[in-house]
Amino acid sequence: MQSVAEEIRMQGKKIAVVPTMGYLHEGHASLMQKASQLADVTISTLFVNPTQFAPNEDFERYPRDFDRDSAIASDNGVSILFNPEVKEMYPDYFSTMIAMSGIVKKLEGVHRPSHFQGVATIVAKLFNTTKPHFAVFGQKDYQQTLVIKQLVRDMNFDVKIVIAPTVRESDGLAMSSRNVYLRDGERPDSLVICAALANAIKAIEDGERNRKVINAIMHQTLRTVQSVRIDYASSCDADTLDEPETFLPGEHVVLLIAAYVGRTRLIDNAILTIAEQDNIKPFFFVDEQ
Ligand code: AMP
Repeated sequence: MQSVAEEIRMQGKKIAVVPTMGYLHEGHASLMQKASQLADVTISTLFVNPTQFAPNEDFERYPRDFDRDSAIASDNGVSILFNPEVKEMYPDYFSTMIAMSGIVKKLEGVHRPSHFQGVATIVAKLFNTTKPHFAVFGQKDYQQTLVIKQLVRDMNFDVKIVIAPTVRESDGLAMSSRNVYLRDGERPDSLVICAALANAIKAIEDGERNRKVINAIMHQTLRTVQSVRIDYASSCDADTLDEPETFLPGEHVVLLIAAYVGRTRLIDNAILTIAEQDNIKPFFFVDEQ
């Protein structure tokens, strides 16, 4: 892979990479399309990375379908699909993992403590093997995008990180390879996650600025469905994931939810900006006609 990538670079061409764990859907396809707009050659990587799964998680049963994936990738502008074996990425005596601090410790980091170490390690390895100028990631994994931007800054990777919006099913559920785990009855239940985000957005648009109140709105909505178990539902500063008491005008806010629907763990998020000036007019204000 490295020599192929080097050859492309020698021809003066730009490379964009889209890292995935496969079982591709329209969300992945949109990232691939974005990548092909940015670069001359789009490489996608397809690797279910064992180091980002905890022992009790779904590494073994993660859905896989190579033939379907390679058709979707080539239909969406990918010319090279890099699909290494676990033994190739992690040979015997593999000894180096990238341990980050700060943002990796929050939210997902609380519930999946070794997850981002696995993500940072494999992303660094995939950057070194595919030698991209651009790498496209989905907003769907919002905290991951912050972690990767931090990794790139800290380790001086010469890669521009591009974030593409979340692609949703027509009813609002964020597309995910894990959605196939949902049983019939659970599929409608899963919609409560985007409903919780929508309710919190509405409250903020109506002037709510108190973080605890905004979080409570998400929790209350999620608790209306019995099959749902909340890992977290939190509003944070979108750049730092800090949790201020109140949000300030102009502040970028991210609403982040991770919740189980039955046995399936789903994540979703929304970003918004607090209005610079609340739309409240003093009583003596007279509109000019
Ligand atoms: P995964 O295969 O789940 O590891 O995801 C690979 C890439 O696709 C990551 O950058 C994800 O954020 C992105 N992705 C996953 N689901 C979506 C979606 N519904 N919309 C946009 N991007 C997505």
